[in-house]
Amino acid sequence: MKVAKFGGTSLASAGQIKKVCNIILSDPERQIIVVSAPGKRDKNDTKVTDMLIACAESYLANGNADEETEKVVTRYAEIAQELGLSNEIVDAIRDDIKERLKITSSGREGFIDSLKAAGEDNCAKLVAAYLQSIGVDAKYINPKDAGLILSNEYGNAQVLPQSYDNLKSLKNIPGIKIFPGFFGYSLNGEIVTFSRGGSDITGSILAAAVNADLYENYTDVDCVYSVNPNIVPNPQPIREITYREMRELSYAGFSVFHEEALVPVYRKGVPVRIKNTNNPDAPGTTIVLHREKYNGPVVGIAGDKGFCTIYISKYLMNREIGFGRKVLQILEDEGLSYEHIPSGIDHMSIVMRESQLTKDIEKRVIRRIYDELAVDHITVEHDQALIMIVGEGMQRTIGIAARITGALARASVNIEMINQGSSEESIMIGVRADDCTKAIQAIYHEFFK
Ligand code: ASP
Repeated sequence: MKVAKFGGTSLASAGQIKKVCNIILSDPERQIIVVSAPGKRDKNDTKVTDMLIACAESYLANGNADEETEKVVTRYAEIAQELGLSNEIVDAIRDDIKERLKITSSGREGFIDSLKAAGEDNCAKLVAAYLQSIGVDAKYINPKDAGLILSNEYGNAQVLPQSYDNLKSLKNIPGIKIFPGFFGYSLNGEIVTFSRGGSDITGSILAAAVNADLYENYTDVDCVYSVNPNIVPNPQPIREITYREMRELSYAGFSVFHEEALVPVYRKGVPVRIKNTNNPDAPGTTIVLHREKYNGPVVGIAGDKGFCTIYISKYLMNREIGFGRKVLQILEDEGLSYEHIPSGIDHMSIVMRESQLTKDIEKRVIRRIYDELAVDHITVEHDQALIMIVGEGMQRTIGIAARITGALARASVNIEMINQGSSEESIMIGVRADDCTKAIQAIYHEFFK
């Protein structure tokens, strides 16, 4: 059995939905289908999820969202009409959104989540109705009935373990099951969504729960490339990559697949294949537990801007038991999460996402570290980028760091930080944000020509 998830661009119009249905019907093993909300038809279009957020916000601000609701209904109506579906389904979508607008009991965040979820929920109903209209045994599955239970962290929910047992029984339902992505229900029955792009997570949970042979993730690119094609034109495609490698690359900016979505399939060892709805015959990229072929030490290079580093130095820091814990406690008190902590005998660098560190928080953190830990010096370096060079083929291969640093030297890029974990499957380089593109290009050409 395969679980197939289709992203927003795959469902953006009636034409796209027909392509999706052809893909579903071309393989009898595709039995559980997860859908996103209709996405952008072109660059300037708006995703239905964003239209629904606007709807919720307008209602919260003015007690009225008629105009925004009609915009959403019109998007669905166009699709339904072109698919030859009756007006009834469009009326049902309008009623559904109006109903959601009435329920404000779960507070602002819960209210917004309920609206956001309408995108995938109605899309799933529409796709199921279309398949039925062409004589296919298909049915919409409600995540509540199926038992997809999530933590009540609005907009950032996590799956609760009992969901896996509940969802197992999806296997016993005959026909093609159309399951809306992106949301589930909290223990007290309220709608909660994952973070944005979270339909990938739903697909992964279902694939793990039914122990699928394959989790197919259909999007609008042929495969995952070894580097962002906007940075290096026509980069080498990746045919096979391990979960670990994919995790490292998506962390540093590969956005093809939601970062959190790998966890459920990884635990069960279900392989994931990224495919293109617009070119389903392309082989795609398969994410696996182990790969046998290494076409070179590096599988991919990714970079992300928006990092900063707090540098702390104190003479004899290495002798002071508990120093690191006390620093981290200060960060925890401020709700800051850190990314890396490279350290030396008398200094410690804390790399974190810059967006968290507002001017106020920065001031407070520095003050507290000075006052409570009597350090000699603290500086905060902003506008940094992290570049990840990833590949399990780097393990026990001599000279990788030399090649990276050589390429950067030739490109006149200064390395601010370098970090290689003991697993040797990735090397992280910190550079100035301005140098990020140049550095990625230089490293790419070193390993891929
Ligand atoms: N529709 C949601 C979003 O735009 C979830 C998804 O597409 O995966 O974030």
